[in-house]
Amino acid sequence: MDSFVYKNGRLFAEGVDVARIAEQVGTPVYIYSKATFMDHLKKIQAAYAGIDTTACYSIKACGNINILRLLARAGSGFDIVSGGELYRAQQAGADMKKIVFAGVGKTDKEIIEALNAGIAWFNIESEQELENLIKLCKQHGKKTKAALRVNPDIKYDSHRHITTGVKETKFGVDIERAQKVFAQYAANGAVELSAIHVHLGSGGKTIDPYVNGVKKVMPLIDDLRKKGYTIDTLDLGGGYGADYETDTVPSAADYASGIVPLLKEKKLKLILEPGKSIIANAGLLLTRTLFKKTGGEKTFVIVDAGMNDLIRPCLYDAFHFIWPAVVDKKFVPEKRTKDIEMSDMETVDVVGPICESTDYFAKDRTLPPVQRGDLVAIFTAGAYGFSMAGNYNARPMPAEVLVEGDTFRIIRKRQTYDDLVTLEK
Ligand SMILES: *Cc1c(COP(=O)(O)O)cnc(C)c1O
Repeated sequence: MDSFVYKNGRLFAEGVDVARIAEQVGTPVYIYSKATFMDHLKKIQAAYAGIDTTACYSIKACGNINILRLLARAGSGFDIVSGGELYRAQQAGADMKKIVFAGVGKTDKEIIEALNAGIAWFNIESEQELENLIKLCKQHGKKTKAALRVNPDIKYDSHRHITTGVKETKFGVDIERAQKVFAQYAANGAVELSAIHVHLGSGGKTIDPYVNGVKKVMPLIDDLRKKGYTIDTLDLGGGYGADYETDTVPSAADYASGIVPLLKEKKLKLILEPGKSIIANAGLLLTRTLFKKTGGEKTFVIVDAGMNDLIRPCLYDAFHFIWPAVVDKKFVPEKRTKDIEMSDMETVDVVGPICESTDYFAKDRTLPPVQRGDLVAIFTAGAYGFSMAGNYNARPMPAEVLVEGDTFRIIRKRQTYDDLVTLEK
């Protein structure tokens, strides 16, 4: 579900005509719907209500402090991966007791900042990292809790001898090694190692990898408990799918139906780290058509947003549904899908103005006819859109707008030329 809908051929974000935002704020502009991301958060919270769960929104997906503040007030915790994200969480008034700090390369400075802030959990990726955290805690007179990240790719069964060693990645430790980490470090007096973290990727079209991942770490938790270690929490990290096309991923309730019974049986608390499943389809990038150019076999729609504003198509070959913001009624799309068939459409490449062949949003896309000056919406751009934006080609970063019912406000101003050089003076 999201709140971007066409009314009489005009695209609305909740109760606001997006063309009105473009007039007042300019383009390119990121537009977020509060109702959409709040709805996603609430659905996650409701789906897991049967067990003690903290949903920790992953700040890196979209870290605008105005959005974080709304999520924090609704009870969200946060998943951070840097000192900068900790700072964002603090600026948003987040509850530090609901923050988990993940990432393979935390610096001492970042760790000390997080200890001083009193965050709840550190996710531990290696023995050295744990040693360092223990050392810093002792030096600074702090205590904290930690979750050991185990790599669920390692099968906890007869296949283990095949996979051990080769599956060692920079993330986490394998299950066999996890036992040793507990034996060696559990009694350290500073860092309470009482959770297991598994990161199961970023969501596919079924819940199976998640359920299987949880099942795979349960024997480890049983073993550790038998040996006398307290394991009270499972951090089920990694994201969940988002609807880049309408209704293509499992709902929070679907995931919970597979996961909650497994944790309930073991009396485990749960930490979730949703990013794009909360914010992806709560945001779109609105851009204006600068030119239309037909060259050889191809027609190019050249828009005023570029890969510096939204890099996902270039970086991941990601699909974003794209559609003009004002269309003849016959072109109102019923669903956002890869292959829409209507008559009188045109096949075009939607590209940005940057001098790189990777500066595109869509290739060979069938769209209603678009003319110079037309507004075009790039949907499901809320996650890893603005948060990955940059200034390449000395392009000021776009504004961000939050829509709430019939009103909207700028939650981040468009950068100015002066912003581009101010740190250089
Ligand atoms: C990025 C990240 C997530 C969220 O991923 P999404 O795909 O945006 O949901 C969750 N946990 C950790 C540790 C991450 O780094």
